[in-house]
Amino acid sequence: MDNWKPKTKLVHSGVKRSQYSELSEAIFLTQGFAYDSAEQAEARFIESGQDEYIYARYGNPTVRMFEERIAALEGAEDAFATASGMAAVSGALFSKLRAGDHVVSAKALFGSCLFVLEDILQRWGIEVTFVEGTDLAAWRAAMRPNTKVAFLEALSNPTLEVIDIKGVSDIAHEAGATVVVDNVFATPVFQRSLELGADVVIYSATKHIDGQGRCLGGVVLGTKEFIRKTFEPFNKHTGPAMSPFTAWVMLKGLETIVLRCEAQATTCESLVDALSGHAKLERLIYPFAPDHPQLGLAKRQMTQGGTVVTLVLKDGKDAAFRFINALNIITISNNLGDAKSIITHPSTTTHQRLTADQRTALGISDGLVRISIGLEDAGDLLDDITQALEKA
Ligand SMILES: *Cc1c(COP(=O)(O)O)cnc(C)c1O
Repeated sequence: MDNWKPKTKLVHSGVKRSQYSELSEAIFLTQGFAYDSAEQAEARFIESGQDEYIYARYGNPTVRMFEERIAALEGAEDAFATASGMAAVSGALFSKLRAGDHVVSAKALFGSCLFVLEDILQRWGIEVTFVEGTDLAAWRAAMRPNTKVAFLEALSNPTLEVIDIKGVSDIAHEAGATVVVDNVFATPVFQRSLELGADVVIYSATKHIDGQGRCLGGVVLGTKEFIRKTFEPFNKHTGPAMSPFTAWVMLKGLETIVLRCEAQATTCESLVDALSGHAKLERLIYPFAPDHPQLGLAKRQMTQGGTVVTLVLKDGKDAAFRFINALNIITISNNLGDAKSIITHPSTTTHQRLTADQRTALGISDGLVRISIGLEDAGDLLDDITQALEKA
């Protein structure tokens, strides 16, 4: 099984069949599990073994199938599923850290990740230093004797900067810190952050893993030691368990994730070719675009450039709004990794909470739009974008 290629693992890894030998994975929609005897219950509370369950907040067979399948893909020793991506991010940080610790984080972060690091951790006596993620010297300078975690999003949202995972990991490990990577934008298909040096990888399964915008979910991957000794005790007692139904949706999502992400990235590539240099665009950002400032690093870390393209329109917010409102196929929303193409105007929505200065520092101008490319026909998407650019 370890020799299987990713596509095979994504269909077969983690399968647990009941006595009925069902072909498609079963949804074990149960919160509890019965014991054969008082002795068995006692033994299970002392230590539960493989495929022995107590209570769905601690674990459930459908959830376990999802965890084993994503762990097999990622090459992780173990995984723990959560109710949302943010439960995974916050649980990984809260379970690892205590008052007096220090964290170094890239400053370009998903809005809720920024809130956890900037507001919650600091309120709990954990200091956080934010650095320019692409500047390795800044990571090195920020490390302190009490630095316990280095946190980053491998591809920043929405400006798609590429962070050198190996570079940051080497620096953090020298300082004795654990490297936690939110790998959502790079996807589990295109980037293997654990192999690059990260210790813990997190996904919002809400995005590409579901891939059809149905359920919220998350997962934390790492060593058995981290997942079972650090993360599990925190998560099973604080409560954000993934529901068995959600786990089933995510499990089936994994079966098709390679096909979907590759198709979406291939469409991105064709749009980049067709749209670069367009008169209405100040900039087009895509990690594998020939003019991306970190193209070399992107190609070393990723097998394709991801499923998001960012456009910066000339003439700011008015042009961006005219463009967004003129689109017929691409939907205005804020999910990503979905079968449906989705457009977001970060400065007035996902990043509205930031000050204008913070947005400028992150490169989030008023003309910037983020497009998550879906599974529609590439030619139809190009036609839609082209006609809407005319009206911008
Ligand atoms: C969506 C997202 C999250 C949060 O995930 P939820 O499932 O919405 O809680 C965290 N990080 C990144 C990069 C995301 O895109």
